[in-house]
Amino acid sequence: MPTITHLINGERIAGTGRTTEVFNPSTGAAIRQLALADRATVQQAIDAAKAAFPAWRKTPAAKRAQVMFRFKFLLEQNEAKIVQLISEEHGKTLEDAAGELKRGIENVEYACAAPEILKGEYSRNVGPDIDAWSDFQPIGVVAGITPFNFPAMVPLWMYPLAIVCGNCFILKPSERDPSSTLLIAELLQEAGLPKGVLNVVHGDKEAVDALIEAPEVKALSFVGSTPIAEYIYSEGTKRGKRVQALGGAKNHAVLMPDADLDNAVSALMGAAYGSCGERCMAISVAVCVGDQIADALVQKIAPQIHELKIGAGTSCGLDMGPLVTGAAKERVTGYIDAGVAAGAELVVDGRGLSVSGNENGFFIGGTLFDKVSPEMSIYTDEIFGPVLCIVRVGSLEEAMQLINDHEYGNGTCIFTRDGESARLFCDEIEVGMVGVNVPLPVPVAYHSFGGWKRSLFGDLHAYGPDGVRFYTRRKAITQRWPQRASHEAAQFAFPSNG
Ligand code: NAD
Repeated sequence: MPTITHLINGERIAGTGRTTEVFNPSTGAAIRQLALADRATVQQAIDAAKAAFPAWRKTPAAKRAQVMFRFKFLLEQNEAKIVQLISEEHGKTLEDAAGELKRGIENVEYACAAPEILKGEYSRNVGPDIDAWSDFQPIGVVAGITPFNFPAMVPLWMYPLAIVCGNCFILKPSERDPSSTLLIAELLQEAGLPKGVLNVVHGDKEAVDALIEAPEVKALSFVGSTPIAEYIYSEGTKRGKRVQALGGAKNHAVLMPDADLDNAVSALMGAAYGSCGERCMAISVAVCVGDQIADALVQKIAPQIHELKIGAGTSCGLDMGPLVTGAAKERVTGYIDAGVAAGAELVVDGRGLSVSGNENGFFIGGTLFDKVSPEMSIYTDEIFGPVLCIVRVGSLEEAMQLINDHEYGNGTCIFTRDGESARLFCDEIEVGMVGVNVPLPVPVAYHSFGGWKRSLFGDLHAYGPDGVRFYTRRKAITQRWPQRASHEAAQFAFPSNG
């Protein structure tokens, strides 16, 4: 089996010591070996980034942006190869993988605007012969730790922006599906990025801890599950680092009695079962306002769930591939068992699905529960699989209370034709990203992405304008050039224009 290497100082580094296997979830077979970085390997990457920083920091923003222009072109040229690798190791369909790559490229496009983004703020004559400006300077060496579910897009949320802001970056991708992530990083080298500005180290907790503990690493961006997000946020901030840690989710869709049901069903099908439910913005709860809309939803959606086209992600024309690992399949199956035991009504059961020709793949079918109540684990926990739960409530206020009481607050949406309900929902719901008749309200690259409550730890959201703030330090400069030198007496009152 081939071994996936690290990328340090522009070179492929094989690494020594521990390795792990990378699987093709559609077949259930191990297909590659992955070198897991030890502390010494991580330090090698940190040293390379630190050495590259002084020159990269001084490189004009326009030149940094030119590298991103070439990178965007190379990403588009290599789309088929990247998409194939994503699908092979993650299991998502080729079309879905292409979608994530395109959304990742949007972040590269945003990074191409570096000279505009980094212009700063300037005020002339803030006092007698005094001018003032704010500069947005890079932080230095920063690191990103990313999850398995978007091996192309989530890293692209981070390093293009961090790098055009003048930082040097160390990426620790997910150990489940690192090949597309590595290929994309190599394309950035090919685009002309100087050695050491971007380094990729593969690994697990040992590598992550080395990044957290290294004093040279000034900021950490994390995307993954909430327990690890909390750990990285507390350990990183304790050491004085800037940390942005995006965690897990439980996203509710509210169906009002006046919703356009056919369109809402199509939207829910994609949002609940696309990518086998392994999206942090997946809709996993449908909150139906009234029994009538709940009954109609069950009647319309159940047959469509039975008809989902499920198979090896790398085949064309499918709706859904497998889950990422055997352990993920066991976990999701365990939740379905628990839902049944807790008394929820299992309308469609995805357990026990076998895909002909891929019997050892980590497949599970689309699953639907009705009459779910808020104390059940299928409601409280992030299942991260193709399981949709219907909760029935009596009013919009009750639906909103339910959502606001949940510990997660990543995404939510409302299906309605009533502007008043939609406006109230947008105004008062305690969730970071909200859709109105839009099931996956993932902000475009020139806005910023982030949840509320236990879905995000840190003050700034990811990418877009908040990303620029995260990857830069503001420096406020006040400068005076008096017209001619003259002696001025000391002033003891606080200087002001008063
Ligand atoms: P994960 O938390 O298991 O892993 C994420 C990263 O953390 C990986 O790089 C992994 O190697 C590392 N890691 C794992 N265990 C660690 C430990 N003990 N110490 C230090 N580092 C560790 O998450 P995952 O299973 O890869 O991804 C799925 C999760 O990510 C879901 O909870 C999903 O909601 C979340 N997610 C959130 C967003 C968001 O924007 N909020 C986006 C994508 C995924």
